[in-house]
Amino acid sequence: MADSQCPVCGCKRFYVKNPEDEFDVCEFDCVDGRPVFDPEMDENQRPDIGEDAETYCNKCAWHGRFGELDSK
Ligand SMILES: [Zn+2]
Repeated sequence: MADSQCPVCGCKRFYVKNPEDEFDVCEFDCVDGRPVFDPEMDENQRPDIGEDAETYCNKCAWHGRFGELDSK
């Protein structure tokens, strides 16, 4: 499976917001259609990102469901 990327700018880095605190964001790279968190992030703090998770591009204003990401 190819990498998923932002449909607008092609960036492969995204973030999700903490539903309880929108200023608390969690960045990840999208590899093979799956979120890959930074190794230094505590496993207990990694959010569960499903198809319906609201996902934001790290570079542009795009956001949408994680499942909408382009696979090319
Ligand atoms: Zn983008």
